[in-house]
Amino acid sequence: MLDGLKSSLGDAIKKIVKSSGIDEELIKELSKDVQRALLQSDVNVRLVLEITKHLEERALNETPPPGLSRKNHIVKILYDELSNLLGNESEFDFKPGKQNKIILLGIQGSGKTTVASKLAKFLTGQGYKVGVVGADTYRPGALVQLKTMCEKSNVEVYGEESNKDSPSIVKNGLNYFKDQSLDVILIDTAGRHKEEQDLLEEMDRINKVADPDLALLVIDGTIGQQCFNQAEAFHKTIPVGGVIITKLDSSAKGGGALAASAATGAQIMYIGTGERIDDLEKFSPTRFVGRLLGMGDVQAVLDLAKRLESENDDDRMKRISSGKMNMEDFLSQLEEVTKMGSLQGILESMPGLSGMVKDDQVNQMEDRVTKWRYIIQSMTTQEKADPEGLLNSSRIKRIARGSGWPEGEVKELMKNYKNSKNMMKASKGRQMQGTLRRMGL
Ligand code: GDP
Repeated sequence: MLDGLKSSLGDAIKKIVKSSGIDEELIKELSKDVQRALLQSDVNVRLVLEITKHLEERALNETPPPGLSRKNHIVKILYDELSNLLGNESEFDFKPGKQNKIILLGIQGSGKTTVASKLAKFLTGQGYKVGVVGADTYRPGALVQLKTMCEKSNVEVYGEESNKDSPSIVKNGLNYFKDQSLDVILIDTAGRHKEEQDLLEEMDRINKVADPDLALLVIDGTIGQQCFNQAEAFHKTIPVGGVIITKLDSSAKGGGALAASAATGAQIMYIGTGERIDDLEKFSPTRFVGRLLGMGDVQAVLDLAKRLESENDDDRMKRISSGKMNMEDFLSQLEEVTKMGSLQGILESMPGLSGMVKDDQVNQMEDRVTKWRYIIQSMTTQEKADPEGLLNSSRIKRIARGSGWPEGEVKELMKNYKNSKNMMKASKGRQMQGTLRRMGL
């Protein structure tokens, strides 16, 4: 993915890492190298200048925090600035108890239909009930393609083979699904080139008929700079709430597509990384930039990534010991315990404790963690951050469906989570004991 950008950023970083000392000249050179690398992979000029201006200013003026060398600090600044360009992680915010309508926009060939089926599968996996309206009337075969791909995830597709009027198909489709208990309806639209004013007019009509909760713009990651204008044109007609970049597996020019989100002010939410139905990834700016920078023998960057990770771990430990942990923290704690795997071995080697934990108890614990991992994976980021505030019965039902475990298991997990949280609050510093007790050991 973005191999050209990776290697030219990698070269720029190597220069810094291998230098005998950092001075203004070297920082200016780094800035130029980064400019060249980003421009070559088609990132919008204005954005490139913005990033490198910040990079230069910060690299020249900031003092590295204790423990971080000047070189690594500069690499970290580059990491920060590139991550900032890409914004924060963003997720669907479905309203419970209603059919949330998502309209997919994008020009023909961008991968809209593929995204519709990938998203249908992904959301079904999270326990949402999904329906799809296929209103791409220009491209022959689009409806059959959509149906075939959605069939695999048992998602129903509404379409009309002989109707050429997309807005009326959308209207009929929404009507068809009206009485079904769906959480999400994905609407695939037609996409001719943006210069065809009639396409934008049609989008406007569809927008009025569908009254969507969210418009997602699908952008082909291989088209480079053009996508900035394309995104802008769509955004003027229907306000874009999220961007999906496709074909990043085969793209050398993905930098342009990354800037598409800047044209709309919307976040990149997912990226397509292949033609198969599972080739859809939730977009994480920091992970993405980490991947871009963490190439080859750029050891300093890898060290930095490790350091950042351990900072996160510190934060996690602080949260846990102050009783403010969330569901992710809970899972990480459980995994720590099972990772010891040989917990029994550890306990047995301790005088006075041997024989306390039986083999089958360790196995039971591992089974539980596996089950709960599936359940936690079916939660959204917001749910994981605030399970107590958000998990009402309809969400529990959905999570159970997504994970493939009964609702009772989700409730059991919640019970253990709450107990564990309370226990942590009460017994700061006695974590091991608390962990064992709440696992029923
Ligand atoms: P639409 O006209 O916008 O509906 O585009 P399609 O969904 O039909 O996709 C156009 C082509 O791009 C198809 O051949 C897809 O298999 C391919 N495609 C879609 N997404 C990806 C992706 O993430 N990676 C790759 N390599 N190909 C993709």
